[in-house]
Order: sequence, then C-alpha cells, then structure tokens
Amino acid sequence: MSPNRPPTNYLGEEYQRLVDEHLTWEPKELQGPSGPTCKMEGREVIMLAANNYLGLSTHPKVVEAMIAATRKYGAGAGSDRSIAGDMDLHEELDRRLAKFKRAPASLTYQTGFMANEGLIPQLAGRGDLFISDELNHGSIIDGIRISHADRMIYRHKDMEDLARVMDEAEKHDPTYNHIWIITDGVFSMDGDLAPLSEIAAIAREHGAGVYVDDAHGEGVLGENGRGIVSHFGLTHEDVHVEMGTFSKAFGVIGGHVSGSEALRKYALNKSRSWLLSGAVPPGVAAACIAAIDVLETEPQWLESLWNNRNYFLAKAQDLGFDTGSTETPIIPLMCGESKTAKALADFVWGKGVYVLPIVYPMVARDKARIRVQISARHTKDQLDQAIAAFKEGGEKLGLI
Ligand SMILES: *Cc1c(COP(=O)(O)O)cnc(C)c1O
Repeated sequence: MSPNRPPTNYLGEEYQRLVDEHLTWEPKELQGPSGPTCKMEGREVIMLAANNYLGLSTHPKVVEAMIAATRKYGAGAGSDRSIAGDMDLHEELDRRLAKFKRAPASLTYQTGFMANEGLIPQLAGRGDLFISDELNHGSIIDGIRISHADRMIYRHKDMEDLARVMDEAEKHDPTYNHIWIITDGVFSMDGDLAPLSEIAAIAREHGAGVYVDDAHGEGVLGENGRGIVSHFGLTHEDVHVEMGTFSKAFGVIGGHVSGSEALRKYALNKSRSWLLSGAVPPGVAAACIAAIDVLETEPQWLESLWNNRNYFLAKAQDLGFDTGSTETPIIPLMCGESKTAKALADFVWGKGVYVLPIVYPMVARDKARIRVQISARHTKDQLDQAIAAFKEGGEKLGLI
C-alpha cells in the first residue's frame, strides 16, 4: 500500500492482466429474442449457445402468462417473499413444481445460483461433510465454501473413487454427523450425466444425503422433461434434494429445490438468499407456471429437441469431430488448445453461427472445446448450415 497511489489502481492492473492472458469475457449483444436464429451485433446468426433448449422463452403461452400477471399484479412483488412479497402466484408455482417433480414439496428461489448458495451451506456445518464431483458447477462450489463443513472431492463420475472417499470419510475421527454427496445432474461443459442410481446406492449404504443440481437436465431428460430423477426412475427417497432452475429449458428465470416437506420448511427458514432478497416479479412466477404447463401438454418440443440433437451429433461425428462423452443436447467439439477453440468459434461466427468457445480456466488447458447447444426449434436446414461451417473450419484448423 502506498498513500500516493489511488487505492483502486490494482483493479485496472488486474484487468489488464486478464486482457494479456486472453481471459476476458466480452459478451456479444443480442438484439432481439433468443431464438434458433438471433440478431447479434447487427448480424443474423444461428444460435448454438443458448440454454433455451425448447424455445419456451418465446412460447406464446409463457409470454402471455407473464403479460397477464404483470397487468394484474404489477411489475414487482414489492418485498422479499419472507416479508411481504409472498404472492399467491409464488405459492402456486411452488405447488405446481412439486407436482411436476412428483415430490412432496418444492421451494422456488430467485435464481438457481441463489438456491445453491442459500441452501447448501445450511445442510451441513461443523462436524459434517460434503463429497463433491470435481466438475461440479461454480454455484455448488461456492455453496460448499460458505458452509463450515469439510469437503472432499471425487474424480468426475468415478464411482470407485466415490466409494474410496466414502470409506475415508467413515474413518474420520470424530465421526461425521451428516454426509452429503452433491453432484451436477448434467455436466454443463461435457453434456454427460451423473450416474445417479449408483450415487444413490452408495449414499444409501452409508446413510448419506444426495443433492443433485439438474439445471441442464430439466426440460431435457425424463418423462415430459421432469429431469434426471425421473430419467433414472428414482424418487425423492433416493435423491433428497433435487435442485434446478427456470432459466434454462423453462425459458424464464428462477431457482428451485424439491424434496420432503421438511426440506421445504427448513430451506425457507434458513436460506439467506431466500430470506434476504426480493421475490421474483409476479410475471416471472406466472411464466414459470405456464412453462410447466407447456412441458406437460406439448411433448413435441422434447421430441424435436432429441431428434435435432441426434441429427447434429451424428453429422459432427461423421465429419470426424471428437464429441467427448455427451449424452444430452450439450455437444462439445473438442479442440485441444484454447487458441484452436477460439479460432474455430471465430471462423463459424464469420459464417453466421454463434457458439461459445470453452477455454482455460473453465476447462483444463488441453481440453478446450466448442460447446454446441441444440434447441428443439432449429430446422434441419439451420443445423446443416452450422455443420457446413464446422466442416470448413475444422478442416482448416486440422481438427478433422
Ligand atoms: C446455470 C446453472 C446454475 C445457475 O442457475 P441460474 O438459475 O441461471 O442462476 C446452477 N447450476 C448449474 C449446473 C447450472 O448450469
């Protein structure tokens, strides 16, 4: 510290370091709705980077529900849910979601990030343990960090390693009071699935709790898009907390947890993010309810999502791309070095295709990739155009 230097100089210096290391985010401006094609930075592009898997963000029933509720209830809820903003629409959404998830109860939050950050640190404290997959989402990592519990990591999806960690945990002195295994359902960088049945079996054997973050599985997996718990035929007796978000396939915004009635009551009383932050606007709650209705009554979107995903995946593999271990509409095109991934993203952008290059430090230095996210609303023609762009770029860069 020096009294002669402005105290915030380091911010500019640190930012410059990010620029020098090519680690800055420069979001592109979206100039209209998130659709299968979008206007971005003044150009028409095929969108392959959105979480809007079913196109529900522009579904007329969802949009009209938001408008009608906004007209009736206003733009905001006026308060935190905990104080004076718990509208009937929020309560209805909680009940509606629980029914959809086939859980005894659900609680909705403002975002998925806030659900993880609010609830996880309340599930375990001193004398307890979280066991976490090494590739879990940042909001899980932060939630665990905020807690006072111990943390152990197991190798990605590696059930032998999980069993090893569990054995180690059992030997801990003093004995842990509560142990939770916590995992993403669909891993957002690879599009692969957590082996949830095996995880639940290991947890059962050791009396541990299971927490799954199904942000990318809802609307995508399971009966009518109910998510990963339904996909594996499990119940909330096996998976004690099923967490998710309305910001991805549901097309709106909001986080949620589902499980026992006790879980809901406890979460509501203890999650600081729920207690101390404003309720989502009534229009949002109504739009989320409408999105659940659409999932239950219009299965065609889920069907065309998987048709599109299978179509694109087969074409990408035919071209010779390494598509990693994907099991979902998240399809990585492995590129190796960060600069190759960036070059491929830039190349296809020039051809009117928008994708996200996933580079270090989001993934290991030699595991950079393009992340393709398919939607139900893409036409075969659009997918073919994208494939043609990847073919040309992949050949140029020596990837295929
Ligand atoms: C997107 C995401 C979240 C955060 O959800 P939001 O509702 O957008 O805050 C949490 N976990 C995972 C795995 C995600 O992909």
